Amino acid sequence: NTVLKIENLEVSINETQILKGLNLEIKEGEVHALMGTNGAGKSTLVKTLSAHYDCVVTNGAITYKKKNLLDLDVAQRANEGIFMSFQSPIEVPGVNNSYFLKTAINEKRKYNGLEEIDAMEFLKNVKEETNKFNIDRKLLQRDLNAGFSGGEKKRNELVQLLMLQPDLILLDEIDSGLDVDAIKTVANVINSMLDGKRSILMITHYDRLLELIKPDFVHILNDGKIAKTGDYTLALELDEKGYEAIGIKDENK
Ligand code: ADP
Ligand code: MG
Ligand code: MG
Repeated sequence: NTVLKIENLEVSINETQILKGLNLEIKEGEVHALMGTNGAGKSTLVKTLSAHYDCVVTNGAITYKKKNLLDLDVAQRANEGIFMSFQSPIEVPGVNNSYFLKTAINEKRKYNGLEEIDAMEFLKNVKEETNKFNIDRKLLQRDLNAGFSGGEKKRNELVQLLMLQPDLILLDEIDSGLDVDAIKTVANVINSMLDGKRSILMITHYDRLLELIKPDFVHILNDGKIAKTGDYTLALELDEKGYEAIGIKDENK
């Protein structure tokens, strides 16, 4: 069952074409890793999927759960079960984190015809999930991302993931700047969420995360397209030999 189908996608940022006819299909339960040199357009792809205002789609189609994704706004995409972890999450001073999360959950529930979660049940769920993965709950009492360290932002996103239970998870370098223990927590949370239905598209440069979360497919983005696709061994080969040796031109050089 296909969850996400991207066909001939062309995307520009500030009138510069970044994606140049990209094709990608993700089925239920699959884990896809997206790799590529700096500036290849990896973030542009996931930003486009989450309707980021920087990204202008000039051609192609994106189908998500049989719907035209491009017809859905940011909130609708979230409510349809897409979760995006940004490379640098925004800080929202003055908005309590716990309140924000509860609101997001209730928006999604309402959109899907469910009743609001009651405050006690919300707290109980947060407690259970954070205990399971040893995540400090104090983050929830603070303002959203305000003054959070890199590691705290990522842990906070893990809490959001666990509570929102999305169907398609987009991770943009969630492991960057994390210590080994935090990377393990990320992997534990992600692996616990792999239930054969939920799908993941993860951008990473680091093979440590890929060792812990074995992707079914590894794609290399180059010159605005998927230039190479393989299984987990492609990431290992890349780590060992580098981009040039596997025939990918590094446009930064
Ligand atoms: P990656 O995530 O693979 O490192 P990005 O998708 O972030 O690459 O960037 C792809 C290209 O788009 C780069 O050349 C980058 O400089 C450019 N780019 C990204 N965001 C902007 C922006 N807001 N304005 C102008 N150019 C941008
Ligand atoms: Mg980058
Ligand atoms: Mg990036």
